[in-house]
Amino acid sequence: MKRAIFPGTFDPFTIGHYSIVKRGLNIFDEIIIGIGNNQSKKTLFSIEKRIEMIQKAFTNEKRVKVIAYNSLTVDFAQEVNAGFILRGLRSVGDFEYERTIGDTNRILTGIETVILFTEAEYAHISSTVARDLISYGKDISSFLPPNIVL
Ligand code: ADP
Repeated sequence: MKRAIFPGTFDPFTIGHYSIVKRGLNIFDEIIIGIGNNQSKKTLFSIEKRIEMIQKAFTNEKRVKVIAYNSLTVDFAQEVNAGFILRGLRSVGDFEYERTIGDTNRILTGIETVILFTEAEYAHISSTVARDLISYGKDISSFLPPNIVL
């Protein structure tokens, strides 16, 4: 049984995140989407709203679960018995950061990080840009997973 966590803030969960989880299901038996709920980090969407949106995106996928956590990511991975951390990589900008935390997590616990390259059509999509567009009243439905409305 290969179980991975897909950790992130998901403020909001985008079609880029959705695509990484879908592709991750070809590698892992189960993926737990872990929403980091760090009290000091101010988010646009409440934790309840983020859980609801992600559950809706994966209603027909029994192998995907959603859990909020406020511990260190590797501690959360161990709590849920996950041997892997799944992450997405959009650009060289993401690379150094992912390598640093991926190496740290492996050295701390032996948990490997598996990184998938983003599909080109989603490489420009980020939660930050989605929030900016929302603040100017723009429609971001093309940034969201299928059948998801804000
Ligand atoms: P964090 O705050 O940990 O960066 P995010 O919610 O921004 O959390 O992202 C979670 C994961 O999803 C990260 O691995 C990030 O690189 C990846 N990701 C973000 N946007 C995209 C995208 N458009 N395509 C693929 N992966 C993405």
